[in-house]
Amino acid sequence: MTIFKKIIEGEIPADIVYEDEHCLAFRDVNPQAPTHILLIPKKEIASMAEAAQEDQNLLGHLLLRAKDIAAQEGLSKNGFRLVINTNEMAGQTVYHLHIHILGGRAMAWPPG
Ligand code: AMP
Repeated sequence: MTIFKKIIEGEIPADIVYEDEHCLAFRDVNPQAPTHILLIPKKEIASMAEAAQEDQNLLGHLLLRAKDIAAQEGLSKNGFRLVINTNEMAGQTVYHLHIHILGGRAMAWPPG
């Protein structure tokens, strides 16, 4: 079981900022920006590479909730970044699909 599934099940604690029947958002334990939140589907999808057509509504829901969470955190005006690391070369470490919501500082492009 992944660490994020354990958070969904309440087996390990997390600083939860949003929850509904489809998803859960909590603060990253190793923040890379003043605001760093992870938004995950409750459905276990290992990575974006494993997402299927049947996940279309869920993925749309996640993007819209990410936008709402960014707004709730006061990031909308100055901007924020959504990141989905997918598989090894992109640096994915937890194989439960997650959107990083990052904000509160200026960000460089291209990413490292
Ligand atoms: P990624 O490298 O894209 O797979 O991102 C995984 C993220 O999960 C990293 O930013 C970690 O800091 C974060 N993380 C790992 N374990 C926990 C945890 N128990 N609670 C909150 N964030 C976590």
